[in-house]
Amino acid sequence: MTDLGDAMTSTVYCPDCHRPAVVLSRFSLDEATGPAEYLRIRCAGALTLLVTSDEAPPCEG
Ligand SMILES: [Zn+2]
Repeated sequence: MTDLGDAMTSTVYCPDCHRPAVVLSRFSLDEATGPAEYLRIRCAGALTLLVTSDEAPPCEG
């Protein structure tokens, strides 16, 4: 099953509890090491978390 109709909703793995988390928003910040993409996520274990996209890989399905 492929969900092509809901591109705005994406799911990643929470680096804290290693369960799927919903991406609330995403934005980029320039850091000393270069631009980094940040995700604000909400998972089952916390209200919201701010993580980098490296820390929270996309969740397939
Ligand atoms: Zn979590």
